Order: sequence, then structure tokens, then C-alpha cells
Amino acid sequence: MTYTFADLRRWREVTAASSPPLRLSVFGDPVEHSASPPMHNAALEKCGVDARYTRLHIRPEELGEALRLLPGAGFIGANLTIPHKAAALPFLDAIDEHARKIGAVNTVLVEGERLTGFNTDGPGLVRAVRAEFGVDIRDLRVMVLGAGGGAGRAISLQCAIERCSRLALVNRTFEKARALAAELEPYLKSSRLLGPAARLEAVPWEEPLLKRQLEHTDLIINATSQGMKRTDARLLPASLLTPNLLVYDTIYGAGRTPLLLAAEEAGARGANGLSMLLHQGALAFEIWFGREAPIEEMRAALLKRQED
Ligand code: NDP
Repeated sequence: MTYTFADLRRWREVTAASSPPLRLSVFGDPVEHSASPPMHNAALEKCGVDARYTRLHIRPEELGEALRLLPGAGFIGANLTIPHKAAALPFLDAIDEHARKIGAVNTVLVEGERLTGFNTDGPGLVRAVRAEFGVDIRDLRVMVLGAGGGAGRAISLQCAIERCSRLALVNRTFEKARALAAELEPYLKSSRLLGPAARLEAVPWEEPLLKRQLEHTDLIINATSQGMKRTDARLLPASLLTPNLLVYDTIYGAGRTPLLLAAEEAGARGANGLSMLLHQGALAFEIWFGREAPIEEMRAALLKRQED
């Protein structure tokens, strides 16, 4: 079920029959694809919380008023997805320091009339990489593809905050990668990695340049939207990849993405974005309820949704 802004204005009336009451939601446009409701509802049920999570289709021009309606409608919080993550900032009462640095919010906490914004995408990615590959971002030389997009920016900033061994920022529109590199420079100033490659670099999307960069890379993260459709062309040819590489594709869904197929062909280890979705959700749950999230129930709900 997907609700609308008009429903939110009369929330208690419109959802009066819902038991437990709907007190959490993801806002998006579009939002029908979101896997957050089954994941969070499994967690709420497991923890015995008298609340459930739903979807709200909120258009950009409705966002400010929709957020301000949350306290009166009895909400505990909300998640924000495309296109609201950056647009929400002016409508919140407080923004946690990490979300402010990223310039985007994916989680809102309601306390009385007060709305506070957080961003769990970057920390979720760090937990996902640790869970999938058994390594910490800070020990890896990372290449972010799509560093100029919303998710790419959050991930790149997180890698810089974690002080990863090396960070290569790649984006189709090169100027965005260059601007981000300038912004992240203060985090990666120290010369921890001694060697021929700079610790932080913006890289134009050109195959010979990527090939050279990959010699100094342990982990490739795809944060572009290329690959969401199975018919999308491969982001990188298998011939560029080597078996020692780890490949994390933030895209999630059933089956392997074109990039993960290329990784498999090259003998490299790969993982898709389901674990990032899971861990960013678990961190949001911890913000709303101040307790550890039941991660196994959440994962099972996501996997079940994939099968359906
Ligand atoms: P944005 O629209 O903000 O960014 C899209 C990015 O993709 C830009 O860097 C853009 O480059 C690049 N891009 C688009 N098409 C191509 C192409 N054909 N070749 C190369 N680069 C391309 O989207 P988001 O950042 O919100 O989302 C990006 C991805 O992250 C999505 O696939 C989404 O599923 C995933 N994601 C996953 C999450 C998870 O929990 N697993 C959470 C959030 C996002 P340019 O700047 O040149 O336009």
C-alpha cells in the first residue's frame, strides 16, 4: 500500500483501521519500489513495537509540509529517498553533524515537535563491506564509480572520514569528481600510503586511466545508477578487472548486476547493495528506538521480498 500527501493530512482518520498504527514511513517520488517497509516491519514485529512502517508518495513541492505534518500524525520517524535527501535540510530543526557534512538526510527522528535529520547511507556501506568481505574500509584502497551522485558523495565522504588507504573518485561528469576531491582533501592529507599513487585522486572516466588506477585499488564501489536495468551496458569490461579485486555494487535487486557479472568473469569477489540497504536500515532503527536492530529478521524479510 502506498499513501499520498493528501492521506498524510488526514492521517489518523485515513489509517484508523491500521493496527498496529502506521507511525514510520519512507518518503519518495517514486516510492513504490522501496524495500524498506517489509524490512522495518519485520524488525518492529520482532521487537514487539506497537507501530508499523509504510510508503508515502511525496512530491518535491510537498516535502516541507509533509515533514511538518509528522509530529501531529504521531510519527516516530521517516526515511527519505530520491529526490528528497538533500532537499529536506531546510525543513528540519536539527541536523546531525555527519548528515550536514554529506549535505543529505536519509533518516528523520521525531521528538515532540522537533525533527532531527541523520544520514546512515555511508555508515551502512562501511558495515556492509565489513560483513561481505571481512575487511575494514580504512584498510582498503577504494575506487568510487559515480562519486558525483547522491549515494556516491555519501560513500566517498564516509571513506574519507574512515581515512581509507587510498580514494579514487570517478564520475562520468568529471567536474563533480574534481570538486568532491577538493572538498575531501583535508581528511586524507597525511601520507599514510607511501607509493607512486596519490592518496586522493579525481579520475576522468576513460578506460586507460581507469586501468592504471585499478593497479592501486582493492575495492571498487559502484554508486552509479547504471546497471539498475539488467539490459544496461556493463560499467567496466571484465578485461579491466583482476581476481584480487573486491567489487561492491550498491544496486540491489534479484540476480547479479552487469558489473557483478563482469567481476565474476574476472574471478573477483563481488556483492550487491542489499547489505547496504540492510545496514543503513538497521542504523535508522537504532536511531528511532535506541536499541540494536534485529538484523537477521530484517535480512530475511529483504531476501523474501526478492523472491516474491
Ligand atoms: P544520483 O542520480 O544522485 O546519481 C547517479 C550517478 O550515476 C551519477 O554519478 C551519474 O553521473 C551516474 N551515472 C548515471 N548514468 C551513468 C552512466 N550511464 N555511466 C556512468 N555513470 C552514470 O543517484 P543516487 O546517488 O541516488 O543513486 C545511485 C545508485 O545508488 C542507485 O543505483 C541506487 O540504487 C544506489 N543506492 C543504493 C543504496 C543501498 O542502500 N543499497 C542507497 C542509495 C542509493 P553524472 O554525475 O555524470 O550524471
